[in-house]
Amino acid sequence: MEIEKDITLKKLNTFGIEAKAAFFAEISSTEDFLSLIKTDVYKNNPRLVIGGGSNLLFTKDFEGIVIKNGLHGIDAVHQNEGHVWIEAKAGENWHKFVLWCVEYGYAGLENLSLIPGCVGAAPMQNIGAYGVEIKDVCEKVYALDMETGKETIFSNTDCKFGYRESIFKHSHKNKYLITSVVFKLSKKPNFNTSYGAIEQELSAMGVKELSIKAISQAVINIRSSKLPDPAVKGNAGSFFKNPEVSKEKHDELKKHFEKLVSYPIDNGGYKLAAGWLIEQCGLKGKCIGEACVHDKQALVLVNLGNAKGKDVYALSEEVLQTVKAKFGVTLEREVNIY
Ligand code: FAD
Ligand code: NAP
Repeated sequence: MEIEKDITLKKLNTFGIEAKAAFFAEISSTEDFLSLIKTDVYKNNPRLVIGGGSNLLFTKDFEGIVIKNGLHGIDAVHQNEGHVWIEAKAGENWHKFVLWCVEYGYAGLENLSLIPGCVGAAPMQNIGAYGVEIKDVCEKVYALDMETGKETIFSNTDCKFGYRESIFKHSHKNKYLITSVVFKLSKKPNFNTSYGAIEQELSAMGVKELSIKAISQAVINIRSSKLPDPAVKGNAGSFFKNPEVSKEKHDELKKHFEKLVSYPIDNGGYKLAAGWLIEQCGLKGKCIGEACVHDKQALVLVNLGNAKGKDVYALSEEVLQTVKAKFGVTLEREVNIY
């Protein structure tokens, strides 16, 4: 493992933002990390672990060491009649891992097909899509303390998973390097097709017999048609979380905005579709420099080519303020800002 100096991060973040890291190292084993933490560069600088760079925005150069997680391997560590426990190392590409599970007939992750990034970042924000979150199947998370290198095992409960939340995004942010995740997957699938356009897509595909492979393909088709491909137009997926509001606030909004898109949640309140709120403010296609609100899905901010991280951030601030002024709802950024 080599520590490089003054490295461009443009190809290491899916927004395609130009920023530099003062130092950079890619680790391919736990031993690499244990040697890295003994170096003066590591001891004396801020640190940032990255996977696929698909949920972060660089607003300036990173004056410290960026550590790319390159730990690889997928293993079935245990099984019984109904379930299989799969351990995937943090540097595995998430979508390839999902396809691997689908190919073996291990169910639970098919609705999470085509999410960019690596396995190690999945617990960070409890990745979710089409009615499934990794908290539904995550058994445990292995991580190394970034000060001491000591291994800690987090159970599902320890991770404090919430809607696009976990302990790793809050009190444990930048304190642990996640090395692998163990998933409990099912040998007998429990199909989840009620969400969004999945059923419509399955019928358009002419699927007669439901399978996890068909669901995975349906999700891939829907996502490919709706979301900008980061390889073509830089982005980090949904820039904001869908806000959760009380029933009172929801009912008041519904009086003024009949077409409000909302979904009831467990605590009696409602989740509002942030994309709809942004669109109603007339912000679709709005740009600052080459940073724009995506014209097909207002929840996504895109880089037309040479956007500056600061422009993307300023645009997100304008979206936040405009939505607040129109609806009295404060959006929260989902993307990690550096
Ligand atoms: P990075 O962007 O590299 O890192 C994200 C954060 O995790 C950073 O704070 C980083 O420090 C930390 N981190 C990364 N790896 C580790 C590690 N090993 N140990 C400790 N900390 C770590 N997200 C969803 O939830 N659902 C979606 O449907 C979805 N769709 C998307 C679609 C598009 C087109 C894009 C571009 C993004 C989408 N995302 C979605 C967001 C993103 O793909 C996920 O959050 C993904 O898990 C990020 O993985 P990554 O490896 O790229 O993380
Ligand atoms: P969509 O299907 O057009 O739906 C818009 C919003 O309404 C979604 O954000 C979703 O919330 C919510 N929703 C739709 N049907 C719902 C239901 N039956 N019950 C509860 N909530 C419902 O959304 P989309 O933009 O095409 O995205 C599809 C899925 O992929 C969503 O789950 C979305 O979260 C996920 N996605 C996430 C990212 C990211 O970066 N985080 C990027 C792209 C897509 P939820 O977001 O809570 O699911």
